Amino acid sequence: MSDLSATERTRHRRLREQGRTDRQALFEVLRAGFVCHLGVVVDGDPMVVPTVYGFDDDHLYVHGSVASHSLTRDTTVCVTITHVDGLVLARSVFEHGVNYRSAMIYGVPRALEGDEKFDALRCLTEHVAPGQWDHARRPNRKELAATTILAVPLAEASVKVREGHPDDADDPHDVWAGVLPLTPSWQAPVTDPLAAAHPVPPHILARAGASL
Ligand SMILES: Cc1cc2nc3c(=O)[nH]c(=O)nc-3n(C[C@H](O)[C@H](O)[C@H](O)COP(=O)(O)OP(=O)(O)OC[C@H]3O[C@@H](n4cnc5c(N)ncnc54)[C@H](O)[C@@H]3O)c2cc1C
Repeated sequence: MSDLSATERTRHRRLREQGRTDRQALFEVLRAGFVCHLGVVVDGDPMVVPTVYGFDDDHLYVHGSVASHSLTRDTTVCVTITHVDGLVLARSVFEHGVNYRSAMIYGVPRALEGDEKFDALRCLTEHVAPGQWDHARRPNRKELAATTILAVPLAEASVKVREGHPDDADDPHDVWAGVLPLTPSWQAPVTDPLAAAHPVPPHILARAGASL
C-alpha cells in the first residue's frame, strides 16, 4: 500500500518520531474505532462534533440530520480519530503522556445522493455494527431525505502513534514509573424488553467478542 504523502498541512512538526507514513497505518486506526470528531468552521466559529463514521479505500463517511450545522460541504473539514491505549506515568510530571493511535484527515466533503448515498449508509452501518444492514429495516425514502451523508476524501491524512514507556531515562530512578494500559471492551448485549421473543443474533454476539 502507498505512503501517506505529507502536505503542508499534514507534515508533522512536533513529536515527529510518532508520525507514521504508511497508508496502511491510517486504515488500522480507522478499523479500530467508529467514532470520529468532525472539525469544521461554521459561520466563522470552530465546531468539533463527535460522530460515527464508516470508510472505504478512498473516503470516510459521516452522516446526520439534514438540519446539522456541522455537516457542511464545500469547505475544508478536519476529522480526527483517537484511540487511547494507556497513561504514560513518568518520573516527572513534565514527561507524563498518553499512549495512543490517532489520525487526522483534511478534506472538502461531498454530499452524496442516490445510490452513492445508499451505499455509503450501508458502509457506515456495516462498519459500526457488521451484519446490521441485513438484520435491521433499511432506510426508506423519507428517512433518506432526512439524512445527510458526506464523503471526506482520504487523500490528505496523517497518523501518529505513541507506544512504550516514559521517555525520561535521564531523571533519577527513585520513584515508580510505567504505563497504565487502557483497553475498551464490549459487554454482554442487553435485550430490549420489546424484543424479548428474539434471541441475540450471531452477528451481535460476534461483535460483543469472544471474551463473553
Ligand atoms: C489522546 C492524545 C492525547 C495527547 N495529549 C497531548 C498533550 O497533552 N500534549 C501534547 O503536546 N500533545 C499531546 N498529544 C499529541 C498531539 O495530538 C499533537 O500531536 C502534538 O501536540 C503536536 O501538536 P502540534 O499542534 O504541534 O501539531 P503539528 O505537529 O504542528 O501538526 C502538524 C500536522 O501533523 C499532524 N498531526 C499532529 N498531531 C497529530 C495527531 N495526534 N494525530 C495525527 N496527526 C497529527 C496533522 O496533520 C497536523 O496538521 C496527544 C495526542 C493524543 C492522541
